Amino acid sequence: MEINERTAHWTQTLQVSGYRLTAARLSVVNVIAASQKALNPMDAYLLARQECPGLGLVTVYRTLEKLEELGLVVRVHAPDGCGAYLSAAEGHEHLIICTHCQRAEYFAGDDLHPLMDRVAAEHGYQIQDHWLQLFGICPECRENS
Ligand SMILES: [Zn+2]
Ligand SMILES: [Zn+2]
Repeated sequence: MEINERTAHWTQTLQVSGYRLTAARLSVVNVIAASQKALNPMDAYLLARQECPGLGLVTVYRTLEKLEELGLVVRVHAPDGCGAYLSAAEGHEHLIICTHCQRAEYFAGDDLHPLMDRVAAEHGYQIQDHWLQLFGICPECRENS
């Protein structure tokens, strides 16, 4: 989804859910929707303040929570915690995250079925779901190192 399209989709979803989009909340929405990196609330705060100088950190937290509640953003799990947010995947996709610059991308397709079948057989579980995140160094960071 293009950034403009995503922003429009998010603002519409928020409005339909009865959420009042103030300028401050909208600045947070814009920043997260446009970001290629997972942003923690402080990152989002510093970026969104450029658009909305009166923004408060509490508003950032609340807006992120609302976006997460509506399934528009996901929390990224990282070695230093699970506090960063990123646009949710469209469909069944998995994340790859650069450990240098925190750039994040989704990829489709996984070959987990042989593994899941083996684990199911060995442990007697019926597997219902899985969650996968890869970490690495992105092409840009590899070039600059
Ligand atoms: Zn990188
Ligand atoms: Zn999968």
